[in-house]
Amino acid sequence: MRALVFENGQARYTTSHPEPAVKDNEVLIAVTCAGICSTDLEILKGYMGYSGVLGHEFVGVVVKGPRDLKDKRVVGEINCVCGKCDMCLSGLNNHCRERTTLGIKGHEGVFAEYVSLPRRNVHVLSDAVSNDQAVFVEPLAAALQIVKQVSIEPRHKVIVIGDGRLGLLTVQALAAHGGKGNVVLLGKHQEKLLFCEKRGIQGTHLDDMIFRPEWDIVVDCSGSEAGFADACRLVRPRGKIVLKSTWVATAPVDLSPLVINEITVIGSRCGPFPEAINALAADRVVVNGLITSRFPLAEGIEALEQAKKANQIKVVLDINQG
Ligand SMILES: [Zn+2]
Ligand SMILES: [Zn+2]
Repeated sequence: MRALVFENGQARYTTSHPEPAVKDNEVLIAVTCAGICSTDLEILKGYMGYSGVLGHEFVGVVVKGPRDLKDKRVVGEINCVCGKCDMCLSGLNNHCRERTTLGIKGHEGVFAEYVSLPRRNVHVLSDAVSNDQAVFVEPLAAALQIVKQVSIEPRHKVIVIGDGRLGLLTVQALAAHGGKGNVVLLGKHQEKLLFCEKRGIQGTHLDDMIFRPEWDIVVDCSGSEAGFADACRLVRPRGKIVLKSTWVATAPVDLSPLVINEITVIGSRCGPFPEAINALAADRVVVNGLITSRFPLAEGIEALEQAKKANQIKVVLDINQG
């Protein structure tokens, strides 16, 4: 099959990658379109030491599986879990000790004609969610995980650092959960800040930001080490920093401000798919205009290059267009 594969430190497009094997509890999905995420770009730099088909954000159609899923348009959760370990048995499936992760660790990804996934990972989409909306379900679920971990109330001053793909979803997700009017997006791209302002969310340019330790909750979606340093400068004493970025660290980080100011740091990863699907269906989170480029799978290498550019938000691969 056609696929975009990362191997020996290099991404390449191939027309002869083997189709994924489908285990008993799995379905086979024909991928319709897929989104390129910052995590994919980090993998290209060596994150997780992954090799195989890239990609984990997708929408597709089930071609092999039980009758209730066959021919259904679906999205899929990215953690494939054992169901038996201590984490799984205590309800923390996403932290399964034996887990593989779609396109990130030990499970081939979605920048390919077909992908296999456990049945339990698959969520059927209603007609209310278009394919172009559905490629945002996975990152939006990750954004919604924050409100599972931290309660956001109207009295809280909340700032999201980073106006990239995840920042724009996160700030909307937080605004929709009790933060409207008190959530600010901090970024450096005028057009992205404007997108937010059109949604009634205040955007502040990094150049205009006054760094004072006065924010109750700081969410780092910057995807860079600088974002964490900025978060430390913005969070109030006894405040909370939520880390959403995964980056390959190259410099030591000074943690002493966290001790002195008694800061709570919360790592935050994958989140609830059903809630993300509902938020998109009800237009509580708007993704219209966030797709800035699209490429056929055969031009996947160009698409990855495009996704690295600062003026891009979401780059989408149209898989079944050759
Ligand atoms: Zn992602
Ligand atoms: Zn497990």
